[in-house]
Amino acid sequence: MSAAQPPRQPKAKPSEDLIYTELYNSILERQLPPETKLGENLLAEHYGVSRTIIRQVLQRLAHDRLVKLEPNRGAFVASLSLEEAGQIYEAWRLIEAAIVRDVTQTITRKQIAALKKLVAEERQACEKQDIPRLTRLSAQFHMQLADLCRNKFLTKFLKELVPQTALAFFYEVRSMPICTKDEHGEILDAISSGDETAAVAAAMRHLDGIEKALNARSSIRKPLGLIDLLNTRIPSIS
Ligand SMILES: [Zn+2]
Repeated sequence: MSAAQPPRQPKAKPSEDLIYTELYNSILERQLPPETKLGENLLAEHYGVSRTIIRQVLQRLAHDRLVKLEPNRGAFVASLSLEEAGQIYEAWRLIEAAIVRDVTQTITRKQIAALKKLVAEERQACEKQDIPRLTRLSAQFHMQLADLCRNKFLTKFLKELVPQTALAFFYEVRSMPICTKDEHGEILDAISSGDETAAVAAAMRHLDGIEKALNARSSIRKPLGLIDLLNTRIPSIS
């Protein structure tokens, strides 16, 4: 007789927060394109949780405006028209300029070091051609900068806006301009040298460049099934 096996620990079920983070990041990284159907049953089965938990996660994402809930049809990744995308960039430029101006006046060495570390990670992701990670880190740069702003309303606006740019699927993702130049590094250098005008100018050049790359003709690659899409990213849940 073989020795008694210790009772197998049941695999811990992912929490609502983990699933929320996973789906939020998948959308932010552009792994789940706009209009992807987020089937409750499929997701419940994929994560091994109840439909109630999935429904709560989808509600939270709908509150973030990343998901739309349609009566009788279910949940979908939200989408933006080209015009709406333009409006988002217009709002982003205004808020970003105010944030950069404020942060240039108050930033500490420690905060500069933290942002430099993030820019270095972006460079690494760029070298490895890890586009999803680069996309997420790139959004994080702007959100981390916004966190340093003394006006918390501006912080909140920016943090609501930036994730939504992931819903503007008018890029050829591989030629997204963030990867080609070290623009975050330039913004950060100007901020740390205390040059408000140069910092705002660098931030505006950066956002203008991204917006110019919006291209109505490039369309979403043919979407895979939901679970295939989720499986193409390295999950934060094991
Ligand atoms: Zn950027």
